[in-house]
Amino acid sequence: MIIYVDIDHTICDVDAGPDYLDYSGAEPWQENIDKVNRLYDDGHKIVYWTARGSGTGLDWREITERQFEDWGVKYHKLILKKPLYDIFIDDRNINTTDFFNDFDKYRDEYLPRVDDNIIDNEDKSS
Ligand SMILES: [Mg+2]
Repeated sequence: MIIYVDIDHTICDVDAGPDYLDYSGAEPWQENIDKVNRLYDDGHKIVYWTARGSGTGLDWREITERQFEDWGVKYHKLILKKPLYDIFIDDRNINTTDFFNDFDKYRDEYLPRVDDNIIDNEDKSS
């Protein structure tokens, strides 16, 4: 399956300030990172999708990629420029808290293993 994952307040804690200007001090939530890494290991395509810089126009790719390396984040793609919104109403959305609190249920019931990894692991662009 193709799984999109948010970054801030999903796999890390961050106080970017009132104008969302600084994500460099984000602190990893390793337990959540490990769970998403397990989905990667199960063969799912993991796409991190973030609004870092969407409001300011600043490019957070390099810092985010370095954080992912430091935190041991496994992923296939990092996409920035997620739209800004307050609430996301979507029939395929899973709330962060629900997902990580009930990880085993979601993993077993909703995310069947895939036998082979269909994704080009080298492509982390865009
Ligand atoms: Mg977030």
